[in-house]
Amino acid sequence: MLVCTKCGRKFEEKFLLQCECGGTLLVRRNYDSFLPDPRFFDIRRYLSYLPVDASFLPKIPPIITPVVEIEGIEFKLDYLHPTGSFKDRGTFVTIAKLKEEGISEVVLDSSGNAALSLAFYSMISGIKVHIFLSYDAKPGKISALMNLNAKVHFVEGDRMKVHDSALEFSKATGIPYVTHWLNPYFIEGTKTIAFEIYEEIGVPEEIFIPTGSGTALLGVWKGFKELMEIGEIERLPKLIAVQAEGFESLCPRSPRINKLADGIAIPNPPRLEDMKKALEETGGYCISVGEDDTLAAHHWLKARGLLVEETSATALAGYWKAREEGIATGNSLILLTGVKR
Ligand SMILES: [Zn+2]
Repeated sequence: MLVCTKCGRKFEEKFLLQCECGGTLLVRRNYDSFLPDPRFFDIRRYLSYLPVDASFLPKIPPIITPVVEIEGIEFKLDYLHPTGSFKDRGTFVTIAKLKEEGISEVVLDSSGNAALSLAFYSMISGIKVHIFLSYDAKPGKISALMNLNAKVHFVEGDRMKVHDSALEFSKATGIPYVTHWLNPYFIEGTKTIAFEIYEEIGVPEEIFIPTGSGTALLGVWKGFKELMEIGEIERLPKLIAVQAEGFESLCPRSPRINKLADGIAIPNPPRLEDMKKALEETGGYCISVGEDDTLAAHHWLKARGLLVEETSATALAGYWKAREEGIATGNSLILLTGVKR
């Protein structure tokens, strides 16, 4: 079932983004044991913990990404997916759910990794995608989306105007709006990050996660929480939300602006209350990083063969800052979320 995180109301597992009270939704199922399917070395390994019917899954699954140790720091390379970001996990599950419900056309307002992932998985699954963008979206991103058969709609105005136009279009046409910021099935996909980490290295002391809309943070939180509810693990890892200066939602807002981390430049995420709960329950905290630190971390990663986008590099910058402040424990894992395009 789906459960509202605000009023507790329960819903059937349909494609639904929010409760009538305005609260966010999470999938709630009870599992008695953790038994990954040994036949698979990709996300299908955890199929019994995903709210989807196997017959609707897209043919190209997100992979099990490796954890590597470099100079004493552990990294999970979660950018090695079909479209180059962890978002493929969430999209994969979402598409299966859309197919199950017979939905063949969707609307989204994003030019980032989530849009690219949605366009790719929709293309291979026969779903038509409408993407709403402002005229100042980066040309490379627009052509990448068009290349994946997305129908791009340009809107004059800022991010909010683009969002409103996408919603109006959805309302007028009846084509569902599928933002990953709210979609509970998306988090079902990203929770497999936790299952993999557990199988790969057990439960780390703490995990540093780039955090804007919270889809990575909440996935890792939900995955580990389910493992604990099953009785498979005895404690949760501390989750550290790394944010970009000027766009903080969990940390106090900085007057400086980190323009490099566009993937987490989301000052008012709709799942903010869920994100606060994830930090609280795991004993984690938020840390905010600036442009100089992001750039230094990006160079460090690149020199060692980790070709990630700047947004991902914030996680390492956050780890460095926590070390400097003496709050990192040393047994830390850094989640690298998106490839450098
Ligand atoms: Zn509610």
